[in-house]
Order: sequence, then C-alpha cells, then structure tokens
Amino acid sequence: YGPAPEDAGAVRAWLADRPSFGHFINGAFTAPGATFDSRDPWTGELLAQVSQGTEADVAAAVAAARAAQPGWAALDGHARARFLYAIARTVQKRERFLSVLESLDNGKPIRESRDIDVPLVARHFYHHAGWAELLASEMPGFAPLGVCGQIIPWNFPLLMLAWKIAPALAAGNTVVLKPAEYTPLSALAFAQICAEVGLPPGVVNIVTGDGATGAALVAAEVDKIAFTGSTEVGRQIAAATAGTSKRLTLELGGKSPFVVLEDADLDAAVEGVVDSIWFNQGQVCCAGSRILVAEAVADAFEARLAARMAGLRVGPPLDKSTDVGAIVDPVQKARILSICADAVAGGAELVGGAALDCCAIAPGYLRRVAPANPGWQQEIFGPIATLTTFRTPDEAVELANTTRYGLAASVWSESATNATDLAAQLKAGVVWVNCANIFDAAAPFGGVRESGFGREGGRAGMLDYLREPTPTAQAAKPEK
Ligand code: NAD
Repeated sequence: YGPAPEDAGAVRAWLADRPSFGHFINGAFTAPGATFDSRDPWTGELLAQVSQGTEADVAAAVAAARAAQPGWAALDGHARARFLYAIARTVQKRERFLSVLESLDNGKPIRESRDIDVPLVARHFYHHAGWAELLASEMPGFAPLGVCGQIIPWNFPLLMLAWKIAPALAAGNTVVLKPAEYTPLSALAFAQICAEVGLPPGVVNIVTGDGATGAALVAAEVDKIAFTGSTEVGRQIAAATAGTSKRLTLELGGKSPFVVLEDADLDAAVEGVVDSIWFNQGQVCCAGSRILVAEAVADAFEARLAARMAGLRVGPPLDKSTDVGAIVDPVQKARILSICADAVAGGAELVGGAALDCCAIAPGYLRRVAPANPGWQQEIFGPIATLTTFRTPDEAVELANTTRYGLAASVWSESATNATDLAAQLKAGVVWVNCANIFDAAAPFGGVRESGFGREGGRAGMLDYLREPTPTAQAAKPEK
C-alpha cells in the first residue's frame, strides 16, 4: 500500500496543530525558543519550525535525565522492558503516520520508510526489551553508565534514534538525544509516544538544534556520548571528550567496496547494487559505493547494471512507485554534484547522475575511477557509485582496502569458499556475502579504521552502554 490520503492528512493535521516545536524535556514540550525551518525537500514546503537548542536547554535536559536516572535504573528489568514493549507496539500502531512523516521530512521513498525504517524501529525496541528482561541474569553486576548524550544524522532519523535510545534505556541509562537539523520531526513524534506510554519524565529528553547544540551536549555533564555522523565531526568530538571521563562511541562515514567475483550471479549482484547504493538515494553510511567487478564479466555486468538503473523511477517520496526520492537538502545536493564534477575533472566518466528539479539526483555511477580520484576517496553520500575492474582476487582485496574507511563490504560469488576467502581479507566492520545493507537488532554494527569504534545492536551494543564489574579479589583467589 502507499500512504492512504488519510495518513498524509493525519500528518498534515498534526503539523498544522504544531507550527513550531519546543524541546522535549522532563516529559513535556517546552515553549518554542528561536526556531529554524524544517522543510519537505521534494517540494521545498515548510513543514514546521523547530527550536534551536541553547546551552541552557541542553543543561536543563541533562539535569532532567540526571534526576530520573537512579529511579529508572532501580526499576527491575521487567518493568523497564514493559516500557520498551509499549514503545515498540505504539510505533507499530503508528507505522503509517511515522512513515509519511519520515518521508516528508527526509525525502526518502515511502516504500522504504514503510517497509524498512519504521519496522526496524519497532524491532529494535522489541529486541532491547528482551535485553532489559535478561540483563540481571545474563550480565550480573553490570551497571548503567548514567546519562547518555546521543547525536544522530539525518539519513535514517527514526531508526538511528532507535539504535541509540533502545539499548541505553534497556541498560538503565537515561538519555538526551539531539536529532539532525534537517530531520527533527520524527524524533518529536517519538517524544510524544514516550509521553503517551507513560515513560517516567526525564528518561528520554530530545533537544533539537544544529551542530552548536550538539557541541553543547558533548560539553555537558554526561557520562557517555554516542555519535553517528561524519568522520570530520567525529574527530572534533573525540578531541572535545579527550581527557574527560566520558565514554565515547563513534559510528562514522564509509566508502564501502562491493566486490563482484567472476563466478557471481550477475543479476543478483545488480539487484544488490540497487539495494546498496540507490537505496535511500545513496545516503547510507555503509552504501556499497565502490563497485569492483572482475574484468572477465565486467562488460556483461555493466550492461545489466545500466539497463536496471534506467528502469529506476525518480519521483515524489510519497508515491509508492517511487524508487529514488529527494536528496535531504539542497546543500547536500550541491555537495554531491560538486564531488562528481571533481571526479569527472580528474578523468572519470559519469553515467547517469543528472541533477534534477525537486532536490533530486538521478541514479548514476562513475567509470574509470583511479584510486587517486576524488570520486574514489571521498564519501559522496548520494546515488552515485564508482565502477572499477580487477583481474585477480588479490587485486580486488588491495583495491577494496585502499580508503581510510572500514565500515562495511559486500562480496558476490556463487562459491562459498571464494566469497569467504575474500571476505576475510577485507578491512570492514561487517562483510555481507551475496547481499547488502542487511540490518538486524541482534547483529552488532560498527566500523574499523576511520569509520569509528563501538558497536550498536546485539550483546556488543549492550556492552557499550554498561560498566563492567571488576572481579573482586576474593573471587579471583584460587580455592584452597
Ligand atoms: P554530520 O557529522 O554533519 O552531523 C551529524 C550530527 O552531528 C548532526 O546531528 C549534527 O547537528 C551534529 N553535529 C554537527 N557538528 C557537531 C559538533 N561540532 N559537535 C556535535 N555535534 C555536531 O553528519 P551528517 O551530514 O548528518 O550525516 C552524514 C554522515 O553520517 C556520513 O558521513 C555518514 O557516513 C555518517 N553516518 C554513519 C553511520 C554509521 O552507523 N556509521 C550511520 C549514518 C550516517
């Protein structure tokens, strides 16, 4: 189904009732302060005005989280789990509303927000409700960190929120989350869900704003900063938290290789590219943005790829037949086009990738891209891949590992041995075989090298929100 007119109507009515939003602090929305605009990138229409969080707003949110934390941590695991289950169920009940809101604010196709983003949000809260139930028995003695500051990007606004908030709450922490300035609206709708399910005030606080608000949160009296965003900002946050006792996890950028071996199923691999680089307009940290194809099958692969690419429909995000929607903001569109222009100036050839109206860019790829080309090194973060050939698997490994990043990789082969031999040599936090962009709440996700450190999802993700008990001297003594 696409969004029924009543779903879009419900979102518009909700926005019309709230022309400007305050922050969500201590269980209630504050009066709006100075605001910035949140727009629909496809039409440019103003959706709402959202408050620019100040240092004082951040301090108030942190104080609320601090006051709420002991009570939240003192609840037994089952009691915390009940809140997480209630959030998950309410997200499911509101899935149409949340999908439309997300597609309006971000520009992503409704099929993606409806079938991927919002279901995964619910899945994340269900999964971590399970962790809240089991924590005392599975990880005895582990303690929450306290108050967690969480800063997220705009490419999966509600899903990144879920990745951050669900494990933090399951572990007994309270949070202050800052959504990205391009896409604050679904976080504010989420705040309303927290209030509706009766989450104790102060457990979840949302402060909207730009990088300055984020920097204020990093500097505030928090026990952990969990950041997802660009490597550049991650580096600034690492510097700002150095020498403090704040825990830090960084989920940063990527330039992930997508390796097609000679014995790959080419049609499946072409579908993999669609899921990998044209999903969410390529604004995916782990997008398979560097396609490496075995020379022997390169012509056949490229012919199929070009044909499939031509069949993708660029269109309005709320149209259910749209494959590729809007880039999140004109500033990002200009950034993508400028990297492509630099790549072409450096000798690459651009196939497709036309700049369109409505803040959109047609899917495309750059051919003949040498490793020194800006198109190879820089994260384009748009619907443009690079395509390069290799002769031997060793050359593929060498090419795959030539960037500063190490977030994800994907390998395509009909031979399990060939695929796993190659996968083992790739420097990446996750390697997918014959698939791409597969996420699960139980599977830890995160990078190596300049793609960051720390994990989200599964047991490893829980450990990043917990303090491990020190074994007592007594327990360590050998028995007599
Ligand atoms: P960004 O780094 O510009 O912004 C991310 C967030 O940080 C935003 O909320 C922003 O307001 C805030 N911010 C900006 N400056 C700050 C500062 N000095 N101190 C504190 N906070 C600050 O990134 P973006 O453009 O929103 O997102 C795109 C990037 O995110 C890409 O590089 C992408 O690869 C990465 N990303 C990574 C993952 C992952 O899991 N590794 C997931 C999604 C996106």
